[in-house]
Amino acid sequence: MSKVQLITFDLDDTFWDIGPVIINAEMTTRKWLEEKVGEIEWGTLQSFLELRNQLAKNDQSLNWDLGKLRREIFRVKLSPIISNSKELEDLVNQAFDFFLNKRHEVVFYDGVIDALEALSTKYELGVLTNGNADIKRLGIDKYFNFSISSADVKSNKPEEGHFKKALSNSKLLPQEVIHVGDHQINDVTGALNAGMHAVWFNKDAAEWAQNYNQPTTFSDWYNYQKIEELST
Ligand SMILES: [Mg+2]
Repeated sequence: MSKVQLITFDLDDTFWDIGPVIINAEMTTRKWLEEKVGEIEWGTLQSFLELRNQLAKNDQSLNWDLGKLRREIFRVKLSPIISNSKELEDLVNQAFDFFLNKRHEVVFYDGVIDALEALSTKYELGVLTNGNADIKRLGIDKYFNFSISSADVKSNKPEEGHFKKALSNSKLLPQEVIHVGDHQINDVTGALNAGMHAVWFNKDAAEWAQNYNQPTTFSDWYNYQKIEELST
């Protein structure tokens, strides 16, 4: 087996719990906007999801460019209230900045930083995310050689875009790379399809539900050494 040179990581739900962060970002941004313009008709969750689907149908890029999607949603919600287009654009951008700030208020799982600290002394590290968290903003960029988002490769994991770009960035063979993530399909299947090794981060004791053998798995970051079992 080729020696592992690079370990790539998913971010959301692998380094932190993203659900509460997004809900808080969504709610505080709504409140912030309503303080500026008065009540806004946000609609139900169902209508929100329908709007997302509708927008993405008209513009494919919204499937992988979350920032553009979110700005578009703010635009739709604010346009009945603000008729001046310059004013509308300014507010859309400010709301997105506000949201993005809140989106970075994450709480790392215990042991993540120590694991990155240790692993970064032995391997190149990279990020492969479908989300739009910025490792620089989170102060963890010093551990990583690169970070690849869906907007960068115009596709979402498990498609090959992120994995291919990781290989071309690092000039490595797939078998020299381990990808670590919480999602059975996006992370594990995606990485294996790209020829890489995969390690599953399974914090909540979920059942393995794919029709192939469960890969190396760990459930808390104090046991990150599990990842390295693959590299020896
Ligand atoms: Mg994830």
